[in-house]
Parts: sequence; C-alpha cells; structure tokens
Amino acid sequence: MIDCGEGTQIRMRQLGVKTVRLGHIFISHLHGDHCFGLIGMISSFGMLNRTADLHIHAQPDLEKILKPQLMYFCQDLPFEIIFHDINPRKNELIFEDRSIKVFTIPLKHRVPCCGFLFEEKPRDSHIIREIIDFYNIPTWRIPKIKQGEDFITEDGEIIPNNQLTTPAGKQKRFAYCSDTAYSEKIIPIIEGVDCLYHEATFMEDEMTRSSQTEHSTARQAAEIAKKANVQKLIIGHYSARYNNQNELLAEAKAVFENTVLGEDLTVYEI
Ligand SMILES: [Zn+2]
Ligand SMILES: [Zn+2]
Repeated sequence: MIDCGEGTQIRMRQLGVKTVRLGHIFISHLHGDHCFGLIGMISSFGMLNRTADLHIHAQPDLEKILKPQLMYFCQDLPFEIIFHDINPRKNELIFEDRSIKVFTIPLKHRVPCCGFLFEEKPRDSHIIREIIDFYNIPTWRIPKIKQGEDFITEDGEIIPNNQLTTPAGKQKRFAYCSDTAYSEKIIPIIEGVDCLYHEATFMEDEMTRSSQTEHSTARQAAEIAKKANVQKLIIGHYSARYNNQNELLAEAKAVFENTVLGEDLTVYEI
C-alpha cells in the first residue's frame, strides 16, 4: 500500500481487498491526507485477529506519532508492527522481495517527501506444457528449465531451451509521485516507466497557489510524463475546488495524450 489517507479501510472493504495480503505500507510524507487512515486501519486489523506482521516504511517521525496512539488504542494487537525508517532526500533501494524492488524518489514539497518506484524483477520464462508432456520431462527438472536450461532425453538428444519455453513478460515499472511541486530532478529516476502516478492538485489558473503550496498543475504533471518518456500517466490529488475533473484531464492531455484521471474504486492496468 502506498499512503493511507482517512477512509482507506472503507475503500479496501468496498473493493474486497484481502487485508491479510497487505504486508508493507509505504508512506510518502507526514501530511494528514497521506497517513490519517493508519490508526483506524491497524485497530480494525486487530479486531479481525490478523496475525501477520505489518511493515511500515516511513520517515522516523511517523513512529513517534503513531506509537503513543498504538499504546493507547491498540494495546493487545495480535500482530507486530515493524517500522522501517526511510530518508526522503535519497534515491535508494528500501525494500526487495522475490518479485519486486522498491526505491525512494526525492520530491519537492513543503515538508520532507518522497515518491516510490516499484520495479519488477526478471521473471522465469513460461514452460510449454505440451512439449514437457511430449518429452515426459520430470517435474523436478522444470524449475531449471524455466531458468534457461536445455533438456537431454534418455537417448542423448538435446532439446534446446527455446523449444521448451516462451519468454517471460516484460518487467513492469510503476512510479508514484505525490505530493510534489514541478521537479525535473525526478526525470532520470522515472525515465520510461510503464505507468506514472503524478499529483495534479491544481490547473494552470491557480499557478501561484500551486507554487506556494508546492503542488503541481495538471499541465506540469503532463510535462514530467512527456520529458520522462513514460508509457502512461495517471493524475490525482485534485483540489476540492474543481468540481469537473475533466478540465484537469484536458489540460494534461494537451501535453501528454496517454493521461487518465485517477478515480476512487477504480483498478488500472499497468
Ligand atoms: Zn502534502
Ligand atoms: Zn496530499
């Protein structure tokens, strides 16, 4: 999970997200709209008798803020909360498991803030089931074949790997950049990602307010997407003053065509 605003647990329930599968939460910065949902969600997990550890990756101040609340409201949690400190000023690897790596992206905001880059690791190729059956290849050989090994039959015939497998899909990269003023410094980090989520709090008509509050306009989000050659841009974090978000979309699309509006309860293909 990236950020946890108020009401996150309600949205998870509406979407039928399995909460036990949530192991890691990445918090971009300590403004309420990005972390007010944590204590309520954690308390609910306790009542649901979750037992799996919950990891929170955030700036050290979050632990200081959350610990007293946890001690007061969540004394007998049936699971551990493990805090991992991040430095929002650095672009570095902060998490890695079998399938992905997560890096911080330093952003420009009124308080220390970073985005996150999610990068899939190379995956094993797919085996072709019919060929495996045809040569009667034993199951224990399959993991090695998926990693690129050829197969030698009992008669000594070599079956090259490219006849046994099809290549794995392309590794996907997703970047989340919110909240931030326009910053070209992020471009080398997010260059060519499959999908960029970039905040677009304002439109160009509120340029002054946008720079004062260190947010971006829809056009600026699109400029970043264009300069970084990303495949797709999702905008979001709109100011409540805009009733019609299609105007923000139009402003962004004028610069970067493959832009979509980030909307609640919507699932996006990357
Ligand atoms: Zn903020
Ligand atoms: Zn915000």
